[in-house]
Amino acid sequence: TLGHDIGDTLLVEAARRISSCVRASDTVARLGGDEFVILLASLEELDCVERIARTLVSTLVEPFLLANEQAYISASIGIALYPNDAQEIDDLLKHADQAMYSSKNAGRNRHSYFAPEMQQAAQLRRRMTNDLRGALEAQQMRVHYQPIVELATGSIHKAEALVRWQHPVRGLVSPADFIPLAEETGLINEIGDWVFRESARQVAHLRQIHHCNFQISVNKSPVQFRKDGGPTKAWFRYLQELGLTGQSMVIEITEGLLMNVEHNVTEKLLAFRDAGMQVSLDDFGTGYSSLSYLKKFDIDYLKIDKTFVSNLESDPDNLTLCESIIVMAHKLGLKVIAEGVETEAQRDLLAHAGCDYAQGFFFSGPVAATEFEEFLLAWSKVYQGSNNAINNCG
Ligand code: C2E
Ligand code: MG
Ligand code: MG
Repeated sequence: TLGHDIGDTLLVEAARRISSCVRASDTVARLGGDEFVILLASLEELDCVERIARTLVSTLVEPFLLANEQAYISASIGIALYPNDAQEIDDLLKHADQAMYSSKNAGRNRHSYFAPEMQQAAQLRRRMTNDLRGALEAQQMRVHYQPIVELATGSIHKAEALVRWQHPVRGLVSPADFIPLAEETGLINEIGDWVFRESARQVAHLRQIHHCNFQISVNKSPVQFRKDGGPTKAWFRYLQELGLTGQSMVIEITEGLLMNVEHNVTEKLLAFRDAGMQVSLDDFGTGYSSLSYLKKFDIDYLKIDKTFVSNLESDPDNLTLCESIIVMAHKLGLKVIAEGVETEAQRDLLAHAGCDYAQGFFFSGPVAATEFEEFLLAWSKVYQGSNNAINNCG
């Protein structure tokens, strides 16, 4: 995020720190990108490995001073031992890599030893990735919709589109399990494009039968912002073809994207705004929670992450936090959506705190399009007020 030169400086400094943790006779090499390999030859005892790994992590988490800014990195270490884990150099490297993956998955800044199960997990990932390549064409992708309820009126004229993968053998696969694979392979571009079009057709339909201002939000991965131009223009054209304005769709992004100065994120977000599309900041509170970014980027909705909502009743601090986020967002002109509302008490506390919208199992989980329509119909029968809204659109 600070530019290539500074990136190079960081690599040099990191390499220096790594070298300082090992003996002069050991080998430190950079494999590429941000991956280093350390060879500890002729080890007297295995304890040294443990000690060195710990020192490496604690050395690398110390801030780096780069261009007068403090930068922080994390380190994930994978350890494979010769000859126990592998006899061949290629296998040894592969196993160390699998162990590193496991460190990353466990939250980084740690080390993991290779275990045979890691090889199975890596195989599964490979197989899933292969299957994923054919999933769109084989029509195995589904979009489910979860209602977003306006707390003051009980009316529903928003929903979030959430993708699912109907795997022929594994059944319904959760996005948490396949989005990372889709991101690694770039397949997220095609999948995200498909989700957008599917949701656009759905919102056109819902605007006719349910609420003339219905809005559907789609999640957009940071990877989708990397492509220059990307499908953005094509999306706007598609909405026009369907006779829709940009106002019918909302783009959900996460804070990590905003912290990244590369890939012209600002311009790309502005393009959405120019097309009348709104932007939601997802999972707020789990990342940097940077207030300055909220104003800088013209965000329309802030989604409070479910981790805060789930402890609302038991933890007074969480209630205070939610209340403060709501007040702050309102002062900045943003509407607030609470995620993961599972109980009546949570809904009431949030409504009382002035939260604008709520989403969660208490109202409905994400469901297929037909089920979602049935849900809306049943809902508007109970909340007559929201039903009337159909006619109020003019
Ligand atoms: P997200 O965008 O934060 O979506 C909310 C997640 O919370 C969904 O998980 C939803 O099913 C779940 N959820 C909703 N209400 C409740 C509740 O009351 N309690 C609890 N515990 N959970 C609730 P899901 O569908 O598994 O999606 C997980 C994540 O995958 C999403 O998090 C989003 O980041 C990503 N994702 C989903 N669809 C897409 C997509 O089309 N494109 C991209 N790039 N990412 C997607
Ligand atoms: Mg979302
Ligand atoms: Mg979220």
